[in-house]
Amino acid sequence: MAHPKEERTLIILKPDAVHRGIMGEVINRFERKGLKIIGMKMMQLEDAVLEAHYAHIADKPFFGGIKAFMKQSPVVVMALSGIGAVDATRIIVGPTKGFEAAAGTIRGDFSLSVQSNLVHASDNIENATAEVTRFFKEDELFDYKRNDFEFVNAEEVF
Ligand code: ADP
Repeated sequence: MAHPKEERTLIILKPDAVHRGIMGEVINRFERKGLKIIGMKMMQLEDAVLEAHYAHIADKPFFGGIKAFMKQSPVVVMALSGIGAVDATRIIVGPTKGFEAAAGTIRGDFSLSVQSNLVHASDNIENATAEVTRFFKEDELFDYKRNDFEFVNAEEVF
């Protein structure tokens, strides 16, 4: 039975992660934490999906720039699952501005930029659910047991 705190979240490896050849490094950060990759694919993003995905910043002056940036090359989208996966991935990714992100986070270790900050990670459970559905069909998501996945004691109280 799934743990009551198990969540799904959406990660996008942005074009800068693809171009800089650090996709493996970035994916590794999530894998070694214990998050389970339940979906992963490369895709070319188009305006319509970007306008839905970034609807919360569509009125910002930099929105056109973000759309152009996100279409520069294919991206890799991943669905992750795990205990508290939404908050756990945001901690691993770090805050939006690379120059403010702490060492040890993905953005802190690899970015000084605001736009080119390598990774998208869903920011709350509601958005995570909508974003996983936006980017993955049900038959592209896989439910399997990762042998080191259940290292969290089922009796732990949060
Ligand atoms: P996050 O990705 O950390 O959740 P937001 O949802 O606020 O951040 O913004 C989405 C993305 O838009 C950011 O990851 C970044 O790539 C870009 N962005 C945000 N603010 C700016 C800005 N002031 N100038 C350029 N790009 C920005």
